[in-house]
Amino acid sequence: MKIKFIFFSILLFTSFVYSQRLYKITVYIDNKETTLSYLERNGIDFVSSNEFSDLLSANRFNNLETGKIEIKFREYTLKYTARNQFVILNRKSDGIQKIFQMPVPALILKDDVFVPLIFSLDYFNLCYEKKITYNSAAKNLTITDEPFSAESLVLSKETMVKEEKPAEQKPAAVKPDSRYDVYSIIIDEKSNGTLIRLKTSRKIPIPRHSISNGNLFVFLPGITISPDIINNVKPAGLVKRVKRTVVSSKNFQLEFALGEGYSTSEAYQDIESSDILITIGDKQINAATQVMEDVKLKWVFDAVVIDAGHGGKDPGAIGVTGVREKDINLAIALKLGKLISKNLPGIRVIYTRDKDEFIELYKRGKIANENGGKLFLSIHCNSTVQKDISYRGFEVYLLRPGRTQKAIAIAEFENSVINYEDNPQRYQKLTDENFILVSMAHSQYMRYSESFSDILNVEWKKKVEIPSLGIKQAGFYVLVGASMPGVLIETGFLSNRKDEAHLKSAAGQNEIADAIYSAVKKYKENYEKEFGN
Ligand SMILES: [Zn+2]
Repeated sequence: MKIKFIFFSILLFTSFVYSQRLYKITVYIDNKETTLSYLERNGIDFVSSNEFSDLLSANRFNNLETGKIEIKFREYTLKYTARNQFVILNRKSDGIQKIFQMPVPALILKDDVFVPLIFSLDYFNLCYEKKITYNSAAKNLTITDEPFSAESLVLSKETMVKEEKPAEQKPAAVKPDSRYDVYSIIIDEKSNGTLIRLKTSRKIPIPRHSISNGNLFVFLPGITISPDIINNVKPAGLVKRVKRTVVSSKNFQLEFALGEGYSTSEAYQDIESSDILITIGDKQINAATQVMEDVKLKWVFDAVVIDAGHGGKDPGAIGVTGVREKDINLAIALKLGKLISKNLPGIRVIYTRDKDEFIELYKRGKIANENGGKLFLSIHCNSTVQKDISYRGFEVYLLRPGRTQKAIAIAEFENSVINYEDNPQRYQKLTDENFILVSMAHSQYMRYSESFSDILNVEWKKKVEIPSLGIKQAGFYVLVGASMPGVLIETGFLSNRKDEAHLKSAAGQNEIADAIYSAVKKYKENYEKEFGN
């Protein structure tokens, strides 16, 4: 539970002042009328937690250094961290805590943490024990004497965890049983859903799965499953019961009876172990994401962040003739930025670096977020360990667990930049489980990242001499930090003579900048069609 919280807080929180105007919400409480300061970002109202806690007569404790605020109510303490999407709810009587994820992070303005009101109402309702309603159109907040029923917040004792409980409490390891493809099932509750791990003794295809009538069905045709697999499963989180069903002599399926509050399922393969990981999303988080989708209607595509990979003491990959990746990345980034500024006047261009300097990976995301970026483009050049070989081509990467060893190797190289950083420990290892949580947090952007990479792939093939190897996926820290759609572009292989020559020539760089620029332009047109602005 705590692992992802730390992961996100390390990556995303920073003290940071928005130059943003404050407005007032009218508040009706105890037959009196008063006000509450708020600011608006991307159509979401964020209220001052200092003022809100005063209004609800709750004590609070601020830690300005870490951007954390604790609001202490009679029975619960509510904790927010600036620039962090997680909310921690602590029950005083038994020390039990629950972590929720909001679709957007809290903000900080001077010494005050601003929390997204619509995504926080349930928590305040529960803590204050009276009904709080918000009319966002009228900017009215009404607090009545009507007691609030906690059931609506699915907060049963079973779903809460003790704070002292170790983060990952795994059942005793089951020895791999090579007689069966799937020999064990482990179910864990996570802050934003439930994770099912099917332990496998060999690599099996990612199974088809679907949820219907409160049951998750996982179809495993031609896959053998240990007959006593059910006896050792401990249901957790949204999973209440597990069943192994024989469909025909060679076809089995697993059925997971789900409790209230599930939304969708997704399946992945753990790269290291080949285990199958299936996530079941939490409806509450999903509902919030839906609101976020609606809110997006107000989004304007007005800022592109261009991230030239590496820089300063970190040269990146070195080419066949000694060309340094950092120089190529910067040259393309600046050419691209110029094209956008010149031809798309409504779009601000933000560079994470515009000269040869070292910028830590987490700072690149921070720059993107602080400047209200709507699309993050990280520009790189690829390389193989062996120089001067024929392997060449362009690739565009989405932030998702890497599916191939090659993709993983590339992510490892790009991520290895952190070894140049003063505090590499700030990045939690991107294990598959951590990764799934990151992907879930990023899922609201994925559709847009995919759409951009599709467009870029088409434009690239039209305009650039370097052949396209297509759209891939892997885990890049730099994409994790940016809270917006984004891709990492591997423009070509410096280890290949043809690609290197193209990448270092001004003509080649212009060609590449032009292809990316055309993709941004087309993406903008699609975006505006979709949102009607
Ligand atoms: Zn690179």
